[in-house]
Amino acid sequence: MSLSRLDLIKEEVFGIKKYVPGKSIDDIACAYGLDPDLIIKLGSNENPLGPSPMAVEALIKHASQVSIYPSADASELVDALSGYTGFPANNIVASGPGMDGLIDGLMRLIIARGDEVIIPTPTFSYYEISARANGAVPVFIKRDKDHFVDVEAILEAVSSRTKVIFLCSPNNPSGNLMPEEDVRAIAESTCGLVFVDEAYVEFADSDLAHLVNEYDNIIVGRTFSKAFGLAGLRIGYGIMPQWLKSEYMRAATPFNVSRIAIVAGVAALSDVDHLEKSIELVRLGRKYLKEYIPFEVYNSQANFVMVNVAPNKAKDVCERLLENGIIVRDCSSFRDAGESLVRVTVGTRWQNEMVVEGFDGV
Ligand SMILES: *Cc1c(COP(=O)(O)O)cnc(C)c1O
Repeated sequence: MSLSRLDLIKEEVFGIKKYVPGKSIDDIACAYGLDPDLIIKLGSNENPLGPSPMAVEALIKHASQVSIYPSADASELVDALSGYTGFPANNIVASGPGMDGLIDGLMRLIIARGDEVIIPTPTFSYYEISARANGAVPVFIKRDKDHFVDVEAILEAVSSRTKVIFLCSPNNPSGNLMPEEDVRAIAESTCGLVFVDEAYVEFADSDLAHLVNEYDNIIVGRTFSKAFGLAGLRIGYGIMPQWLKSEYMRAATPFNVSRIAIVAGVAALSDVDHLEKSIELVRLGRKYLKEYIPFEVYNSQANFVMVNVAPNKAKDVCERLLENGIIVRDCSSFRDAGESLVRVTVGTRWQNEMVVEGFDGV
């Protein structure tokens, strides 16, 4: 390839550090010579109970219809989400691929080259990737030692170029919620949008979506990937003011939620039993992990816990667990997370016991 072809790539893209996904079962089985069936995968915050059986049934039932385009705006799913969230359909956008697609759609809509987005770190890394790819300049504000957002620092960082402020609640990887008054203060301080990421809200004691009714610059992102166990289908949704939905739909990719994703999503929303079981498993499991992992474990409102393994290095601890067939997440790749944080997805009771045993052996 001629080197000059690289000139074709937007300059901002060279600032992107590639997304580091959690390790897959196949990677680890291969690297360590382990039986894939014995590997415990607790690195990507997936649902250990799997998808709702009703969602699987819907997928199979509609498989032969995939030659037909779905509705352009996934209206069947939006209607079902309206019932689930209590918000009118005018406030809801269904998105693919996942909530990541929603973030990207939003950035595409509002970012012009040189605009700023504010990202309190450590947090979910896709905000930075999407921001840079769309030409924005990310402004990073480090969270305090208890992983709360430094509201004063955010307010100081807000400028006339600020287009989006990303607030993750519960935060990935720390697991703590944003206090509502902090979100209000930030929304009131900016002419830009506040994106509240509630990927893990089903596992939390409270949510922030009601703020969409009060502020015309708050948008809440949600997903089917975590509590609903549909990570492989890539469905997300946004709850946003009506004016924003209208503009969003102008620039959105048509048909971005697939036909089978729509029917499976609708079925998953109707399976209240599976959702409740999934939530209960997480609530019990995170208590167990906090009590028995022999390191500092932070309080979590999500389906994972963050563990401080200092003075050990997260990299070494994760390596030891991997040798035993247990995949957890080394947080060193999260900007500003340091080198001693490990994120552990809450699994089944048996998986949690194995993880504790793994940490005991470190
Ligand atoms: C998993 C996750 C998402 C993305 O979810 P998808 O819908 O699978 O794209 C968004 N935000 C946070 C904080 C997450 O952990």
